[in-house]
Amino acid sequence: MSKTLLWGMSTVDKIVKAELHRHLELCLRPDTIWELAPQFGIQLKSQREFQDRFMILEPMKDLGTVLNKFLDTQKLLATPEILERISFEVCEDAYKNEGIRILELRYAPTFIEMGHKMTYEQIHSAILRGIEKAEAMYPIAVGLICIIQRILPVKDSVKVFDFVMANKDTFVGVDLADNEEGFDSKPFAPYFLAAKKAGLGITIHSGEAPHPKAPKWVMDAVEVLGAQRIGHGVQIYRDENVMQIIRDRGIPLELCPTSNMLTNAVPDLKDHPLKKLFDYGVAVTINTDDPGIFNTNLNREYRICREILGLSIEDLEKCAQTAAEHSFIPLAKRKKVWPKPLAR
Ligand SMILES: [Zn+2]
Repeated sequence: MSKTLLWGMSTVDKIVKAELHRHLELCLRPDTIWELAPQFGIQLKSQREFQDRFMILEPMKDLGTVLNKFLDTQKLLATPEILERISFEVCEDAYKNEGIRILELRYAPTFIEMGHKMTYEQIHSAILRGIEKAEAMYPIAVGLICIIQRILPVKDSVKVFDFVMANKDTFVGVDLADNEEGFDSKPFAPYFLAAKKAGLGITIHSGEAPHPKAPKWVMDAVEVLGAQRIGHGVQIYRDENVMQIIRDRGIPLELCPTSNMLTNAVPDLKDHPLKKLFDYGVAVTINTDDPGIFNTNLNREYRICREILGLSIEDLEKCAQTAAEHSFIPLAKRKKVWPKPLAR
């Protein structure tokens, strides 16, 4: 990849953006990681060591190495004070460095909670404090999505669904994440349908890995779980019929090019089907997924779409507008920060 992607302010950077798919747990500032790590027994002596423990910069070879990096970052999310701080910093960086005005952040209470002495309520209120502080300082609208982990038994997720329902005024949506292979989404359907009925947005991680059943799983997410957006969905380009249905129903894909390359969802950035999907008429949005651990940001993803995938500036502006219009954040709140009219 050309290094010019990394340097200098470009026209792409000036586009006002909306981000729909960003995991709060994996977008810490590097400086913050350096500062916090020693407190949790992680001594970092060099940049190399930092990269080895906290970043994924090359397509991953095996899942174990990646999971260890996730877990090292997770160790740092140990107190309400830290959660408040990182939540504020994520929003501040998004506004100042990436031109983001509408930002949806998602987190899994079950992931943050592991090994830490915090209740879901303590976790959630700390994150909200960080976000509220940022919203008071900058013209940015932020919304939180609660993640249910597909790899956990459905019965263990009931507690998380109860928590979401009890806090539906401070969440904008619910998501189902983790590996799809071997973990059927359908048993979660009654809970997602109940959340949708209660007014929460539904987005489902689906069609990410290049599995033959990926397009079918995307259809399950839409038809069985009631998904209004698809997290990734990148593999639907393999099935014309599914691509057509997703296009005709206007269901946006939350595409994340760098993430898809690093997790081997696509062989290389230049092979990413984002432009093919866009040209076909699918509602495409551009996102970062885990910008901290993948060393990316939304400007960089837009530049990849411009410089490697060949989208025009107008195309990129359309993707940003699609994201702004399909955000689950209430329309009145989005209108206050978005410079163009919003159709929905
Ligand atoms: Zn994701």
